[in-house]
Amino acid sequence: MSIEKFSLEKVLSVHRWTNTLFSFTMTRPAHFKFTAGQFARIGLKVGDDLVVRAYSIVSSPFDETLEFFSIVVPDGAFTSNLQHLEVTDELYLEKVPYGFLTLARYQLPLPQDLWLLGTGTGLAPFLSMLQDFETWQKYQKINLVYSVRTEAELAYADRIAEIVEMFGEGHTGFQFIPIITRDPHAQLHERLPVLIANGDLEKVAGFTLNPETSHVMLCGNPQMVDDTKDALKARGLTMNRRGEGNIAVENYW
Ligand SMILES: Cc1cc2nc3c(=O)[nH]c(=O)nc-3n(C[C@H](O)[C@H](O)[C@H](O)COP(=O)(O)OP(=O)(O)OC[C@H]3O[C@@H](n4cnc5c(N)ncnc54)[C@H](O)[C@@H]3O)c2cc1C
Repeated sequence: MSIEKFSLEKVLSVHRWTNTLFSFTMTRPAHFKFTAGQFARIGLKVGDDLVVRAYSIVSSPFDETLEFFSIVVPDGAFTSNLQHLEVTDELYLEKVPYGFLTLARYQLPLPQDLWLLGTGTGLAPFLSMLQDFETWQKYQKINLVYSVRTEAELAYADRIAEIVEMFGEGHTGFQFIPIITRDPHAQLHERLPVLIANGDLEKVAGFTLNPETSHVMLCGNPQMVDDTKDALKARGLTMNRRGEGNIAVENYW
């Protein structure tokens, strides 16, 4: 991989949520423009090799810095090293962003209700979208559905409240719907496809998934993405292709 494709950026902060989840921010070069929902390719020198991985951007497109939300995979070539990240360390950032998990891809149906369904670090692109005023202007209803295993993994819950206050001021249609799969006492604790098939997600949201009005984005674990896609298709929703249709997805592995 050609190193000229990358700029070298400084780590500005690191926040550890749990042993396996952390967030970090880094400097944002002036040339790095992105749309909410896109991902960056970040590189780390391991010996002489540059190891590069895709990372959804958490930050608002208007932020001066770039924020990311990362898993630690114990034997992962990238994250077993990245987990030791400290302020003032440097990371490589590919100069251009990538990805099509953006709201601009939707033409029909017209924007009305938006369902953002993420598992684990798959929350990341949705945080960026919620930090874009256009999202709030376009949609009357926005449901952020965030599935984790344990309550400790519910990273960003407080930040979500702050983001809603700042970007969604005066908007009355937002709901944050957490799912905690290993907590039988949580209001929602089953897997997303089950909660769609049995109607419990819509019951909590207070309105229904509708092929005529819903835009549904899925991000994270590929098994979740596949199974949820099937559950949505069984309800008459369709994949978004060339602007038309309800469902857009991003698999993390
Ligand atoms: C478009 C895109 C965007 C991505 N955005 C993010 C992001 O914002 N945050 C993030 O942490 N990762 C993200 N990933 C995954 C990321 O690129 C790496 O896979 C991850 O950092 C682990 O790298 P690794 O080399 O340590 O392990 P890898 O060898 O890449 O992965 C090993 C195994 O770890 C598991 N795994 C990988 N990523 C995750 C994850 N995020 N959560 C749970 N299990 C995982 C899978 O079982 C995978 O097979 C994204 C991937 C894609 C394709």
